[in-house]
Amino acid sequence: MALLGAERATGDDHDWGYRLMRAVVYRKPFDVAVEEVPDPRIEHPNDVIVRITSTGISGADLHVYEGRTAAEPGIVFGHENLGIVEDVGSGVTGLEQGDRVVMPFNIACGFCRNCVAGLTGFCRTLNPQGVALGLCGNSAIAPYPGGQGEYLRVPYADFNCTPLPPGMDHESDYVLLADVFPTGYHGCELAGVRPGETVAVFGAGSLGLMAAYSALLRGAAQVFAVDRVPAWLATAREMGATPIDSAEADPVQQIKDLTGGEGTDRGVDASGHHVAGAAPDQVLNQLVQVVRPAGSLGVPGYCVPPDPGRLPLSLDAVFEKGLRLGTGQANVKRYNRQLRDLIVQGRARPGFVVSHELPLSEAPTAYESVERQAEGYTKVILKPEAA
Ligand SMILES: [Zn+2]
Repeated sequence: MALLGAERATGDDHDWGYRLMRAVVYRKPFDVAVEEVPDPRIEHPNDVIVRITSTGISGADLHVYEGRTAAEPGIVFGHENLGIVEDVGSGVTGLEQGDRVVMPFNIACGFCRNCVAGLTGFCRTLNPQGVALGLCGNSAIAPYPGGQGEYLRVPYADFNCTPLPPGMDHESDYVLLADVFPTGYHGCELAGVRPGETVAVFGAGSLGLMAAYSALLRGAAQVFAVDRVPAWLATAREMGATPIDSAEADPVQQIKDLTGGEGTDRGVDASGHHVAGAAPDQVLNQLVQVVRPAGSLGVPGYCVPPDPGRLPLSLDAVFEKGLRLGTGQANVKRYNRQLRDLIVQGRARPGFVVSHELPLSEAPTAYESVERQAEGYTKVILKPEAA
């Protein structure tokens, strides 16, 4: 498979010419291609090079794919990355060639004031402008190429690589530690979900399903999953959530009817506007309506409204009900060790959201299918080593 194999240079040998690897490249809106690009190599002593074995297509990739960001043609997609350490920089102390690792979508330094406080989604070293997008392969301001290719350079590798058990077991569970599992969990953390509570999750795509799953892991008594896609609602039901079909009737009224008029204790906006076919403000304001007075909301999804900078939220209603509102991208490293160990011990199997595992060559078709929410598509994992 690999174009490079055993011939790869070591971290101390950089002076040979570029070689090529296959990767998923953004060409223009609604157009990606698998092309040959220069393979990554050690650029700093703290880097490692990872040979990618599983890499997810994320809802956030669609922001780029649909042309709603400033991303330039030619960037390599992919910020949900799992693989085997292939090459180790001279300053890396905790990793060796052959280690199996998963990386957070938002690369962080590990030593700035926010990272030290566990707020790794807001790393000050990698986001000095305060824009929380230190991720790879996502937008024009992302400093690193993505991992939807054969190899990936990981900076600050000792911090960013979370070790996994050796072998190839549970790839479809562990790869979700890069983004969607911790992001769903983060939605519950932002909302403050506690045992015995009721939770409304708007959106039952992969993020919504992970948020609902996380709410159940945290001991919620009842979790409502709102969407209009029958297959996703069916998955939500199988997982133990109560499906709410927003195409049938007003989801707020449906949930109020099922909670004796009370509404829920907590609410999570799992990018519900994408999956429920609504405007972002409509979903947020529905959540404000559905959560009981003095309840709280979590908004962990990356939200790009049609008119950026103008997302109308009924702040008066938020105030009148005394709601708490938590926002922001997930601090993946804060959760990854614990969520990994839930998988290791068999207490969590988030891979149920994965609908397709495909070779890299099928990425263009996969993007097109995910974008139009083709029947049966929830989460796609690309396998660069597959034929
Ligand atoms: Zn940092």
